[in-house]
Amino acid sequence: MLTHIIQKNTYMQILANPLDAQQLCLQWRMAGEQISFVPTMGFFHAGHQSLMREAKKRGSKLVVSRFVNPTQFGPTEDLATYPRNLERDVALAQEVGVDLLFTPEEGSMYQPGHDTWVELPGMAHNLCGLSRPTFFRGVCTVVTKLFLIVQPHHAFFGQKDWQQLAIIQQMVQDLHFPLEVVGLPTVREQDGLAMSSRNAYLSPEERAQAPHFYQGLCQAYQLLQAGMVETTALAQSIKEYWAKAIPVGAVTCEVDYISFVHPDTLAPVDRVTGPTLVAAAIKIGKTRLIDNVLFNQN
Ligand code: AMP
Repeated sequence: MLTHIIQKNTYMQILANPLDAQQLCLQWRMAGEQISFVPTMGFFHAGHQSLMREAKKRGSKLVVSRFVNPTQFGPTEDLATYPRNLERDVALAQEVGVDLLFTPEEGSMYQPGHDTWVELPGMAHNLCGLSRPTFFRGVCTVVTKLFLIVQPHHAFFGQKDWQQLAIIQQMVQDLHFPLEVVGLPTVREQDGLAMSSRNAYLSPEERAQAPHFYQGLCQAYQLLQAGMVETTALAQSIKEYWAKAIPVGAVTCEVDYISFVHPDTLAPVDRVTGPTLVAAAIKIGKTRLIDNVLFNQN
């Protein structure tokens, strides 16, 4: 068990027990500390670290959770194979100056008989919710639990998972959570691919093709600038770009969805005449990637 391990030479605490973490965070709150919180599934990369760095600036205590949440995975998804590496995560969290790394076990987050769920059916059933119907129920439930354990003043989420960020913002407003949700920009590899723990699944051939995913979305922006505002036409041009650019040799590309939506409500948009998010998911080989681009069209 990882409870109460205090790393030598740093002040980062690592706790696995939710009650211990809650007690420590409550003590901090009572002592007047401002708690910044970054929830994650671990296997840290520079995207996670950028959230942590920004969170560190905005609070006096930085809490990061690291939990591969089983309830957000469907029965045929990658729960068992999701990349995990505690030692590496500890080192990367220490690098940023995390005060508490909360790394609970599945059984302590979902005790036998657990039967409470948080759902936002309206916003959770398009985009990623179409092919992952129970995903956001799992996300909202675990984030609610984490908020109640950590009791943060500010919670930080990446815009790479735009739908998740929009749903959490709505949930925090609906449930009167006493905290501010902060969304931060997507961190990309030099070739434009959005950083993701799942990029580790890509074979070298797939990795070489993966940047075309983002490039297709950027190409739509150029078409928009040239006057193409109908979203069906824009979506078609992106699909054609991917179909031409990606499948090379053994690399396959399957489009899960490509949608144009209002960035806050996630309601579908037919013509890009105001702020519009183009969000997409594709499968390169067996790896599902998501990304999005915000068109600030006024
Ligand atoms: P995950 O561990 O993938 O669940 O992600 C944890 C948090 O990090 C979420 O708020 C993600 O949106 C955010 N995140 C993941 N990848 C990136 C990225 N490339 N840039 C910025 N934030 C990210």
